[in-house]
Amino acid sequence: SAAAAAAAENAPPQLPPFNYQPRPYNGPSADEVLAKRKRFLGPSILHFYQKPVNIVEGKMQYLFDESGRRYLDAFAGIVTVSCGHCHPEVLNAIIEQSKLLQHTTTIYLNHAMTDYAEALASKMPGNLKVVYFVNSGTEANELATLMARLYTGNLGMISLRNAYHGGSSGTLGLTAVSTWKYPVPEGNVHHIMNPDPYRGAFGADAQRYAKEVQDHIEYGSSGKVGGFIAETVQGVGGAIELAPGYLKLVYDIIRKVGGVCIADEVQTGFGRMGSHYWGFETQGVIPDIVTMAKGIGNGLPLGAVVTTPEIASVMAQKTQLNTFGGNPVCSAGGLAVLRVLDKEKRQAHCANVGSHLLDRLRSLMERHDIIGDVRGRGLMVGVELVTDRKEKTPAKDETLVVFEKLKDLGVLVGKGGLHGNVFRIKPPMCFTKDDADFVVDALDYALSKL
Ligand code: PLP
Repeated sequence: SAAAAAAAENAPPQLPPFNYQPRPYNGPSADEVLAKRKRFLGPSILHFYQKPVNIVEGKMQYLFDESGRRYLDAFAGIVTVSCGHCHPEVLNAIIEQSKLLQHTTTIYLNHAMTDYAEALASKMPGNLKVVYFVNSGTEANELATLMARLYTGNLGMISLRNAYHGGSSGTLGLTAVSTWKYPVPEGNVHHIMNPDPYRGAFGADAQRYAKEVQDHIEYGSSGKVGGFIAETVQGVGGAIELAPGYLKLVYDIIRKVGGVCIADEVQTGFGRMGSHYWGFETQGVIPDIVTMAKGIGNGLPLGAVVTTPEIASVMAQKTQLNTFGGNPVCSAGGLAVLRVLDKEKRQAHCANVGSHLLDRLRSLMERHDIIGDVRGRGLMVGVELVTDRKEKTPAKDETLVVFEKLKDLGVLVGKGGLHGNVFRIKPPMCFTKDDADFVVDALDYALSKL
């Protein structure tokens, strides 16, 4: 009947079925965990939701709270759980290595690190064959910047506005969104206009954005730069894909003046963009230094910098120590991640599910004027809410309301962008078409209740 159809139309969408029973949970309640967190942890820690969710278990693309309630993790931790929460093969590699040896530093030999370095180097194009292991994306960018400066003898770095490259006092200079910036010295970093096809002054005109880099070198520097760093898609900045062709133009400019080109693949690496292993491949460039973390270890604290033998050689001026870098447990886990992503053909999967997700999200634009932009590639997707499509006025309050509503419906997405009005959908790479449909239906439902 018409009444039944209307009721069905109004019924909230249901999570796709998933055959997994979480363990009974007897730990502290969400309120108790939150109270302790407030008492013992720093006040500045980022948290989502008015009342943060108490996550006690994870399985592949799903998370479970203390009551056993299931959530679709459409943000993969923070774009970190590449293979899936507690993926059996990664888990097994971690357990087996943990039983044998949990830690040595580089002062002794251990094959877990060297086997992993070999496998990681085999995934890199060109002459990018020398690997350094670190523990996070921030550390990777610290090291990459140091390398670029040592190699060129020039401290000047260029990074893009709206970039996020880390939260340490060094990398905060590279990061360029006020939300994240503590007042520390910028350290010879110049922030250049980001080539944002949606909001940027030059639209998708890569030539004009590249000219900004050229102009900065001519008018704002000694005529030389140490390095240029960029994400291929600005992740924290709101899933902004750089204007097509931009990196090629800028890499040429930077190299002409003796600078080194760094690609921050912390979010875009390991096939998330679909059909490519690295984000920079979508722009047809090969960087001089690549930094990676997050998805590299499926949640293990692991990061890496990969560069050329020539650039790496400058580090030989001194001895380098990173106590946990190349830890055998993280190395075994990282190696398993590469194996799983290849075996499960996750790049092709990301391309396939990602294009389905993007098509469906774009069709939502016809029903909801508040969606100003849908963008992305593979499973690296952004949905930007605006109160006015022409003016592109950020719909900040509405974004918060929908964000909470999505959580209530059972889907956890990321939120970001300069104005906090972008949903970031970057799930584990095992995310299915049914999951994609659920995210879209949940968004449709939440928007229709605004
Ligand atoms: N680079 C990018 C592109 C990131 O998104 C992040 C973190 O969000 C970082 C670097 C810093 O990584 P980490 O939080 O592991 O230090």
